[in-house]
Amino acid sequence: MTAATLPRSFDDGVLHVERDTARLVGGWCPDCRKAAFPLTPVCPRCGAGTRRRLLAAHGVVYARAIINAPVTIYPAPTTIVQVDIDGVRVGGMLRNGDGRIGATVTIAPLVMDSSGEQVTAYCFDQQDPPDA
Ligand SMILES: [Zn+2]
Repeated sequence: MTAATLPRSFDDGVLHVERDTARLVGGWCPDCRKAAFPLTPVCPRCGAGTRRRLLAAHGVVYARAIINAPVTIYPAPTTIVQVDIDGVRVGGMLRNGDGRIGATVTIAPLVMDSSGEQVTAYCFDQQDPPDA
């Protein structure tokens, strides 16, 4: 059995899609030795040239907000989280879990329709069980 192949990324500069996985595209500064997101040609801290680097596949929830209205394909309520990954903070929708502060989440591919074409975006899936 072969893994499913995802549609192309909604933006190759933000999300790298390969077969059935998706990873965020960040920058790496060889001078600061720190990551940045999104990828920019120069480091936002020191101005040195950056290199393209895929961020880790998982992170830790820093903050969350619960939206009590439908958001795109999600019914209300929808949880939006800010996640610390490789020292940078990235926002996105939480597909499952309670999004409590400190929970471990992974980047998950999210297939969406964009002007009649299927594309892959991203969301977060919580790995730790929700608080009881
Ligand atoms: Zn730098």
